[in-house]
Amino acid sequence: RTLCQISVPMPEKIEEERKYPMDFGDIRGQEAAKRCMQICAAGHHHLLVIGPPGSGKTMMAERLPYILPEMTFEEQMMVTKIHSAAGRLKPGSGLMTCRPFRRPHHSVSDKTLVGGGATPTPGEISLAHGGILFLDEFAEFSRSAVESLRQPLESGEVFVHRVRGDFCFPARPLVVAAMNPCPCGYYPDRKRCRCTSGQIQKYMAKISGPVMERLDLCVYIRRVDYRHMTDERSGMDSRRMQEKIERACQIQKERFSGRNIRYNSGMEGKMLEEYCGLDEETQLFLGKVYEKFHLSARTYQKILKVARTISDLEGSSEIRMEHVAEAVGYRLPDETYGGSLWG
Ligand SMILES: [Zn+2]
Repeated sequence: RTLCQISVPMPEKIEEERKYPMDFGDIRGQEAAKRCMQICAAGHHHLLVIGPPGSGKTMMAERLPYILPEMTFEEQMMVTKIHSAAGRLKPGSGLMTCRPFRRPHHSVSDKTLVGGGATPTPGEISLAHGGILFLDEFAEFSRSAVESLRQPLESGEVFVHRVRGDFCFPARPLVVAAMNPCPCGYYPDRKRCRCTSGQIQKYMAKISGPVMERLDLCVYIRRVDYRHMTDERSGMDSRRMQEKIERACQIQKERFSGRNIRYNSGMEGKMLEEYCGLDEETQLFLGKVYEKFHLSARTYQKILKVARTISDLEGSSEIRMEHVAEAVGYRLPDETYGGSLWG
């Protein structure tokens, strides 16, 4: 018999093993924050991370691109085109297959952030399309820069009008904003933080407003104490996080087939009624939360969307009480700051 005559069982599909150049498994003792990141990645919910210096905000954000679902060929094409249009591709480089991670400095100009110019080029928000736009030291960004993100985040594109024609750049990154909890960075650790409540409120007020409204979840991370840092038991790693995300994305793909949205975060109006039904007890609970914290309709809807993602991660067709309760816990701090986040 020649070699050709020997039949070899072929795998149905040859899958390249997924690689995690940076792994959440390297981060010890931040399991709650990792869980929150997993939810954001699964349902494309924008995130605000509040934590003292050295708590691992950047480390976590950098690991996010690798746990997002793998890019489709169309996505790879689009991301490559954007980077090419910005003159950021090296000659001869092929298709971009990794999701981008962009980290503009807080001194960035509006133009660099959203794009534009005489010959319009994509800005950071478009360069991060399909990946992560990480806004570290969020409170230090100028108000106008933050405001300039508002419209693109709403529409998912940047539109530039010029006499010789209109330009449109896609702009659908997953936004991760990060900031310290107070001017010195150590609140609520009163051994180190001497900031007055007035100073803290003023600091937080910098980020209130329309862009805050576009962030969906908030997580507060603490510095990990030495005991956890040296803990040999590893917590969630990227592979385990990603497997669940992939499954949740598949559920959403089926749910939204034939519609022009892909993620739970994109649900609007009737879709919320259709896909986010609650049983009586859960409805009652959320009603109480709504009254007690004087939630806006927008916040109420965000909680529902996040709860939908949590239930998808659990593979549950119903949104249960525990899913809603967890989503409530990731609520953004309101203008009073003190009550909601620390109470
Ligand atoms: Zn402080």
